[in-house]
Amino acid sequence: MRRGENLIEIDGSFGEGGGQILRTSLALSLVTDQAFRIRNIRAARKKPGLLRQHLTAVNAAAEIGQAKVEGASLASCELTFRPCSVAASSYHFAVGSAGSATLVLQTILPALIVASGPSTVVLEGGTHNPHAPPFDFLQKAFLPELNQMGPMIAATLERPGFYPAGGGKFTLTIKPVPQLSPIQVLERGEIQCCRATAIVAGLPRQIAERELKVVREKLAWSDDALHVEVFPNGPGNVLMLEIQSEHITEIFTGFGELGVRAETVAQGAIAAAQAYLEAGVPVGNLLADQLILPFALAGGGSFKTVPLSWHAQTNIEVVKEFLDIDVHVASENERVCIVEVSQRAGKHLSSGTCRW
Ligand code: ATP
Repeated sequence: MRRGENLIEIDGSFGEGGGQILRTSLALSLVTDQAFRIRNIRAARKKPGLLRQHLTAVNAAAEIGQAKVEGASLASCELTFRPCSVAASSYHFAVGSAGSATLVLQTILPALIVASGPSTVVLEGGTHNPHAPPFDFLQKAFLPELNQMGPMIAATLERPGFYPAGGGKFTLTIKPVPQLSPIQVLERGEIQCCRATAIVAGLPRQIAERELKVVREKLAWSDDALHVEVFPNGPGNVLMLEIQSEHITEIFTGFGELGVRAETVAQGAIAAAQAYLEAGVPVGNLLADQLILPFALAGGGSFKTVPLSWHAQTNIEVVKEFLDIDVHVASENERVCIVEVSQRAGKHLSSGTCRW
């Protein structure tokens, strides 16, 4: 990756080579008012280029930032994005498939939390998709960390949407701040509450009950902590394990799949929760890659987590293309590392005049 005169050049095949490179670039292009061109979009994926979810993210970012865009079409592997200025407003974006609406939000939220006024965003599409943050994770794990940095963001689920039918809907209200404040997330504190929620949408309740039975057996959570939620739309099934500690809440998820036993779905989520509990860190593997961007925008702060995923490491490199920050990753031992973000001198976030 290299900086051109007015255009940051991003190689979408870099590192993990997935959609995160595009989403992070769009988000930071809006915040920093820097145009970019990305080539080889999602080159490491089976179906490279823009899928509907990514295209919705591009179009949403373009609307919010009044941007000029070239290459915004399905399957496109190259895109040029020139933002003008971010407008706080009421927005409504629909993925138009079961593509993840939470990943669309991941793209536009950074700009709206430092915009000049409050916004409301309604998103439609998938809300509980494999390989994307489920709505509950967004609401209970990610947004509270962001709110610690200054903005006030509230999320409400109207209805869940699962792959392949989609049809989910949620709303965010956002009160921004001019600049995010750095935070330290180094301790988890005592565990205060554990809660398992198994959702079945258009599927037998028994699936959820079988999942929760495994949670009761393996994690020894009491019946009071086990909840079934039934929705008419679907089909879809998800098991979410919420661990609310003194300083942070984390959520670990298993997604029901055709041909996969409910017990196996539960085992996957339980293994992730157990690994988190054993590591003793506040921030889990997936929250870690999502916190890198807001920490970078805050220009400082640190968090303790498990060893960083390839996804997170790639995200750090993309963030550095737009912001003059340093990210120092120090291993405490083979299971724990500390990510520390600091500002390099001489770089200021800008907003304002169009350059095209
Ligand atoms: P694509 O190239 O298809 O767009 P990607 O490579 O960008 O995909 P992933 O690596 O699968 O996508 O991750 C997307 C984002 O979703 C990451 O920020 C990851 O932390 C988050 N994520 C994935 N699964 C979960 C989950 N179960 N809970 C919370 N966050 C999740």
